[in-house]
Amino acid sequence: MNPWFAKAVVLIASILTVLIRAPHGKRSRTVKVAKSRRGRLEVALLTVAWMAFFAPIVWVATPWLAFANFPLYPFPLVIGSLLLAVSLWLFYRSHADLGANWSITLEIRESHRLVTEGLYRNVRHPMYSALLLYGLGQALVVPNWVAGPSYAAAMVLVFALRLRPEEELMRDQFKDEYEAYALRTKRLIPGIW
Ligand code: SAH
Repeated sequence: MNPWFAKAVVLIASILTVLIRAPHGKRSRTVKVAKSRRGRLEVALLTVAWMAFFAPIVWVATPWLAFANFPLYPFPLVIGSLLLAVSLWLFYRSHADLGANWSITLEIRESHRLVTEGLYRNVRHPMYSALLLYGLGQALVVPNWVAGPSYAAAMVLVFALRLRPEEELMRDQFKDEYEAYALRTKRLIPGIW
């Protein structure tokens, strides 16, 4: 198949990701930070995430990653596009549920409240589930050994190193309320893990 089918899907998904995030990024700059855990590890993880996000765009726009191309087939393209669509919906809904409590990094905002409704009713990290699903979708859609799996690999790394400190921050802040919430929910996959 013509790789431009995959390139179109990747471009649309990347634009939607930015559009979903933009209003929250803008608002978060106006909500005061009460407590921050943005250490050197966090800065490194955020840099890795941004680089991985841009790798598929580099693949679309330049010949630099062409050495790692392989042929595109309809089946992975369709399944990957469906995963991307589901992940974008989860990404949108988790931002809507978190509202002003969202931060790009590990922070507690002024008037931070523990969100336990919507997507947060069954899992504690639905936004990370959404981004992992996005990575999986992109790995199936992009017929390139570097740009395809780059985001999934980065997200696995970022969340492996971030889940624990994030949950510690939430436990510190919300104490028994978070303890009880953690007991009745899973981390990333409803009912499973
Ligand atoms: N890990 C969550 C949120 C990602 S945004 C998810 O995947 O959906 C990261 C910020 O969200 C952190 O700074 C933390 O303070 C905040 N946060 C995480 N879970 C929260 C919750 N249940 N309620 C309110 N804020 C939360």
